[in-house]
Amino acid sequence: MDESNPAKSPVPLEIFRQVVEQAALAISITDSQAHILYTNPAFEHVTGYAPKEVIGRNESILSYKVTPKLVYETMWAQLLRQRPWNGLLVNRRKDGSRYLANLTITPVMDKSGETTHYLGMHRDVTEVHRLERQVQNQKTLIESVVDAAQVAIAMLDENEKVILDNQEYKKLIAELAAEPATTMLASLRAAMGAEYDEIKSTGKSVADREVRFVRENRKTRWFCCSISWIDEQDSSADGFYVPSRRKFMLLVIQDITALKEQQEAIRVAALRAMLAEQDRIRGLREALSGAVFQLQGPFNMLAAAVRMLERQNGTNMTDTLVTSLEEALATGNRTLETLRACIPSPSDEVMGPVDLNAVLMDLLRMMTPRLLAEGVTVEWLPSDLPVLIGRVTQLTMLFKALLENAIEAIRELRGGARRELRVITSRYDGRIEVAIENSGPNIPETLRYKVFEPFFTTKGAEHQHIGMGLTGAQEIAADHGGLIVLDNIPGGGCIARVQLPTT
Ligand code: FAD
Repeated sequence: MDESNPAKSPVPLEIFRQVVEQAALAISITDSQAHILYTNPAFEHVTGYAPKEVIGRNESILSYKVTPKLVYETMWAQLLRQRPWNGLLVNRRKDGSRYLANLTITPVMDKSGETTHYLGMHRDVTEVHRLERQVQNQKTLIESVVDAAQVAIAMLDENEKVILDNQEYKKLIAELAAEPATTMLASLRAAMGAEYDEIKSTGKSVADREVRFVRENRKTRWFCCSISWIDEQDSSADGFYVPSRRKFMLLVIQDITALKEQQEAIRVAALRAMLAEQDRIRGLREALSGAVFQLQGPFNMLAAAVRMLERQNGTNMTDTLVTSLEEALATGNRTLETLRACIPSPSDEVMGPVDLNAVLMDLLRMMTPRLLAEGVTVEWLPSDLPVLIGRVTQLTMLFKALLENAIEAIRELRGGARRELRVITSRYDGRIEVAIENSGPNIPETLRYKVFEPFFTTKGAEHQHIGMGLTGAQEIAADHGGLIVLDNIPGGGCIARVQLPTT
């Protein structure tokens, strides 16, 4: 606009007046003391005051006294420096209702630089403020719920970088001394393979995947992870008309270590009960078999005597004696049959896939209190083993017998001798070998094969050891097409090697 000659302005002054009149903003013009000189129709619409009701009055007519005095002081300090001011004020309409005004005041100066007027423009932003507060309240509510949750929660961007987390997640960072999300996702990726990439590209959810976290000299921790996806609309100006979405991963991690330990304890207790039952049955079989074996000898002798008497019949012997002896023999044989019938039959357990490392781990775990009590140091050196098709209970009994023998051997050590048990698993040439080494005394060369004989024991009756451990173990190994070899370790100790074919 050409100020020197308003008439030459491309926009006539009347247009300027009409613009102000028809503007949607509430516009007021005051003198330098904030006395209202002009208001437009939008002002009346927002405040409820007609021009004639406010002309000559101070703008403070709109003031609702909850706006802090400091706000006005700051406003006036700014205006007196001839700078525009913008801020929020709580205004009161003519009808007494309040609204939040977003107000901009611009000083208008004359040619000499004196402020002669003020231009005020404001709009009612109560609704915007209400929505902002509502969003803020919801955010606070969600954050407190997420923070109070007993599970670790993290939100990750496309690059799997954590952008939001909760208190439990922060605790987990300290406990694991690592970024939990990175650790969990690496484990999930390894376990899920191609499925992981698929869920990432399709945005499919994943629920309750277990992840094990192992660290040297620390107890193993277990976590249950779930993944879901959140789509966020682009909130930038660019995305206003051409919306684009960003996908975030919501990772929920629940520590299930206590639950796992509980399950593990129940499983080991069940295993212990099962093995005790198997031991009881085996003991009964052995005792009854032994009794039948011991009784069979005298009965055989009796049968021979009866046959001799029958051949000599007709001499001095009476029929009555032969008959009595025959009756006694028949009764004895019936008793033997009854005893044989009482011997529990060997288990008819079906063959199935067996993880020998897991079997040995379970046994070592189960025997831990005993090993600790005996002061035995255990070295567990497993290799990756193929799955063996076998009878899991029988194999468990086999290794239990060998481990018990090893502990028994170590018990015989006196003084400060090394008390070591080493369990090594390996695979070669279609075979799995489990070596159980103990640092106990050597087996005398003469007894290396005898120890596999039924009823043989080197322990003596005071240990109540009936000597069937190795025999039973050898039977089980043979039943699986394998064998047990006992070797002495030069300088002391013994290795029991169990070799089982995998094909
Ligand atoms: P007061 O006690 O009168 O003022 C509070 C403090 O502000 C004083 O202590 C003083 O430091 C300062 N102050 C007040 N008047 C002046 C002055 N003339 N010069 C220097 N300092 C001063 N107020 C609203 O509440 N709502 C509005 O919509 C609004 N719109 C306005 C539009 C324009 C164009 C202008 C110029 C002012 C507007 N005001 C508005 C401000 C209004 O004039 C009052 O200053 C304000 O309402 C406070 O008045 P009060 O009577 O509550 O407090």
